[in-house]
Amino acid sequence: MKAAPFEYSRPADIDEACAMLAADENARLIAGGQTLVPMMAMRLARPTRLVDINRIAGLSYIRQDGDAIAIGATTRQCDLERSATIARDIPLMAKAIPWIGHAATRARGTIGGSLVNADPAAEQALIAVTLDAVLNYREDKKTIEIAAGEFFVGAMVTSLPSTACLTGLKIPVWHGDRIGTGFHEVNARRSDFAFVSSAVQVQLDADGTCKRIAIGAGAATDFPMRLTSAEQQLVGSKLDAAKVKDVVTEALADIEALDDLHATAAYRKRVAVSMACRAVADARASALGEKLHAH
Ligand SMILES: Cc1cc2nc3c(=O)[nH]c(=O)nc-3n(C[C@H](O)[C@H](O)[C@H](O)COP(=O)(O)OP(=O)(O)OC[C@H]3O[C@@H](n4cnc5c(N)ncnc54)[C@H](O)[C@@H]3O)c2cc1C
Repeated sequence: MKAAPFEYSRPADIDEACAMLAADENARLIAGGQTLVPMMAMRLARPTRLVDINRIAGLSYIRQDGDAIAIGATTRQCDLERSATIARDIPLMAKAIPWIGHAATRARGTIGGSLVNADPAAEQALIAVTLDAVLNYREDKKTIEIAAGEFFVGAMVTSLPSTACLTGLKIPVWHGDRIGTGFHEVNARRSDFAFVSSAVQVQLDADGTCKRIAIGAGAATDFPMRLTSAEQQLVGSKLDAAKVKDVVTEALADIEALDDLHATAAYRKRVAVSMACRAVADARASALGEKLHAH
């Protein structure tokens, strides 16, 4: 099938892009097109106008900004994958990106498009929530900041106003020694969307005690979640496997897990525990400088 007819515009800047959205409620921004174009081809999306933000100057960047790494909305997933800055300062993102689709989709797909699309299984949404990213968007000639934890409000639903353009995000960098990361997901094929995923970043004291930990669970629920109660109980512990399993199981006990053709809610809930335990174990091992087995 082919897309329904549509107009095409290439605004010069973000405010012009927002004005185009405000002028036509059926207009849509297009970034990498890796989700929108297939949706249009299947006629599941029928925008009257595509507002192409790819050539707006200054929307694609990866740079240090104070204690954070700032990333522009149209930054391609492949650029994040190859970035030395991301590998050094946001290693959890570097670990997760190869799990997104294929090399070909990562060559076009943008971080902004992925965040706004808000698929429950999107790896970049999970990393943003796990690392307390702050997102920026432009609307009505104003720039507004929103925490990643407040941005995602449902499956494929965000709190971004329909006339706004996401401009970028900032991810705080963890400083100091003995920082480790772990990322795990289960899917049918590596390039497919996850049925369940988990992202963990940890910092240990010199004696191996957990000083700081962030645990995120993806694809299990409508949008990525943090296992805050587990994090609180693990700080000050040695992250031994039995304790990790107990607190993670407790944190996931009452979730309303997604239930679909790919995986039942019961499966997702059970495997979310396993993924989180493995990700914590990997994060701990990498913080201690231990060599990990490839999965
Ligand atoms: C075969 C295949 C496999 C894939 N596998 C995965 C996977 O495993 N994990 C995963 O996370 N994703 C996966 N994807 C999706 C891919 O990551 C997309 O790149 C991403 O979902 C959308 O990014 P995009 O830049 O292509 O956005 P587009 O398709 O251009 O846009 C997506 C939506 O976001 C809106 N939008 C885009 N940019 C902005 C902005 N700056 N401000 C406001 N709204 C905006 C658009 O209007 C549209 O509604 C896969 C895609 C394909 C085709």
